Amino acid sequence: MPIQLYDTHSRSLQPLVAEAGQPLRFYCCGPTVYGPAHIGNFRTFLLQDTLRRVLEVEGQTVEHVRNITDVDDKTIKGAIESGLPLKDFTHQWTKKFHTDCAELNCLTPHKEPSAVKHIPEQISLIKQLVEKNHAYATEEGSVYFRVSSFENYGNLSRLKDREIKSQSKNSAGERNDADEYEREAVSDFVLWKKRKPEDGENFWSSPWGEGRPGWHLECSAMIETSFKGATLDLHGGGVDLCFPHHENEIAQSECAHGRPLCKHWFHSAHLMVDGAKMSKSLGNLYTLDDLRAKGFNPMAVRYALIAGSYRQQLNFTIETLHAAQSALAKLERFASSLLSKTEEPKSAFGQYIQPGNPKNLNRFTKAWEALAINLNTSAALGALFGVLGSNPATSMKADEARQTLNGFGTLLFALGIQLFTGKDAPLEIPEDIYALGQARWEAKRAKDYSRADSLRETLLEKGWTIKDSSEGFQIVPK
Ligand code: AMP
Ligand code: ZN
Repeated sequence: MPIQLYDTHSRSLQPLVAEAGQPLRFYCCGPTVYGPAHIGNFRTFLLQDTLRRVLEVEGQTVEHVRNITDVDDKTIKGAIESGLPLKDFTHQWTKKFHTDCAELNCLTPHKEPSAVKHIPEQISLIKQLVEKNHAYATEEGSVYFRVSSFENYGNLSRLKDREIKSQSKNSAGERNDADEYEREAVSDFVLWKKRKPEDGENFWSSPWGEGRPGWHLECSAMIETSFKGATLDLHGGGVDLCFPHHENEIAQSECAHGRPLCKHWFHSAHLMVDGAKMSKSLGNLYTLDDLRAKGFNPMAVRYALIAGSYRQQLNFTIETLHAAQSALAKLERFASSLLSKTEEPKSAFGQYIQPGNPKNLNRFTKAWEALAINLNTSAALGALFGVLGSNPATSMKADEARQTLNGFGTLLFALGIQLFTGKDAPLEIPEDIYALGQARWEAKRAKDYSRADSLRETLLEKGWTIKDSSEGFQIVPK
């Protein structure tokens, strides 16, 4: 049975299958490179990476394209503030993004087009839209998409149900040409922005005068170039992109090219902090570096970010990282006991982590099925720990241990989890110690300081120290 995934457009589970003889064409809206990506962004990129891995384990060839947004309101503002040319400013953050992706064990996309390198393609797309009367230039030299010219506008996010106010100006009588805007402000959106003084040197010539493309346009242009005009099988992004960004992508691409942009829409729910979306504008973010500085292994970060099902928001706390470290330690213990049966060193474990064949998953079939039906990472991890719980390695002979290692390795490949990652290997905190730490943290929060102090003492006697921060606690050996 093919992989099933919920599709935002049809609001139903749909099989993911490529056209016969073709790769499965998968496009993801990539990072805006104006600072380090935060772990909220990485939740989305990691879930996309996990989906790609699951498809590959199933035997599909995936053509994965993820763009780099290196020209928009935020990158231009950041470049000007830092005094660097836009190219140098975005290059440094693109490099940082790549380093973080590698640390989190993300597969590299097959293509990573840059928006700034696709300006001619974006201009040509606008020309087609103007010729077909789906877009119009204003006297001052900007170009807008005429939302009323596309009757399917709003279908993806069911905007029609919420009453589209198709308007080219906002209530203050100004045009809405910000790259991002709220649902209430549905309007003819900008395709070409007339040059403004605050853009500095970041402008290009066009038939409508000097300026730069609007943000939504870049994906339509890069999808067209990267996939050579073919309809996408799958398109992904965080839920915030569903409207307006993906609605606008659909409108631009379908009106210009006269064919569907994409068959299947994959939106993942947000990483939250105290009930709010993790975002740069709210300042409630963590980067991978922040968490490394607190002593966490990037693999624990990956584990924590994919451990919740993608359709549900995930609340991030430091405690979830401790739990992830303990879970990784358990997986390592299991791998070690299997390797002791096959008489192989830990260094041999890496060879088992590969796509393999889902038919040979044996004990891990239930975990695989959870991934295959709507990427249920949470149920998959539950099923995996169910297997570990019975401690099956103890009674195994070498052959069975090898078979189990193969199935285990295939499942870990699908999840993108690496074990025994060297100096950064997760610190193993025994469960009773972690539980004491948690009890002390709760006592402290409840202002029961005498209980909190006595639990701290108990931990010290057992050889562990607690370090507190505003977000939570960390347990380290004394
Ligand atoms: P950006 O770099 O802002 O263009 O965002 C890159 C990706 O991260 C997009 O797919 C966003 O939808 C996604 N994203 C942004 N914030 C979060 C969050 N708190 N949780 C999950 N995904 C997010
Ligand atoms: Zn996009």
